[in-house]
Amino acid sequence: MTTSAITGGCQCGAVRYEISEPLHDVSHCHCSMCRKAHGTLFASFGRARRDSFNLTGEQNVTGYESSPGMVRRFCKSCGGQVVIMSNDAPEVFFVALGSLDAGQSPGHAAGEEKHIFWESKVDWYDPIDDLPKVTGYGE
Ligand SMILES: [Zn+2]
Ligand SMILES: [Zn+2]
Repeated sequence: MTTSAITGGCQCGAVRYEISEPLHDVSHCHCSMCRKAHGTLFASFGRARRDSFNLTGEQNVTGYESSPGMVRRFCKSCGGQVVIMSNDAPEVFFVALGSLDAGQSPGHAAGEEKHIFWESKVDWYDPIDDLPKVTGYGE
């Protein structure tokens, strides 16, 4: 399993993780909380089962509850966003895909990728792709 693990971590290296299976439901989120937290125009996440996720450097992680029950976890030293945990779904993590190591891919299946909270997108930048673009989570 470890030979094919997806690896990543924060910028300074104090927080590292391995994921033993491909991610699911890759979402490029344009909501204002993701934009503000990451300082980017949108933030990309993939879902992983907690069982498949091995985090090291837990003592270097702090968190911010950006909406009720949703805790963004990031490195205390460099501020690098690593995961979001939801109190409503403790069996999964949402991995910040920009934290994957160079050359790593989330490995998600075709059709498991979309833009979410499209209604919150900045007016002056349009991602050019053919992915679905949905309001909210699109449910
Ligand atoms: Zn760090
Ligand atoms: Zn968001």
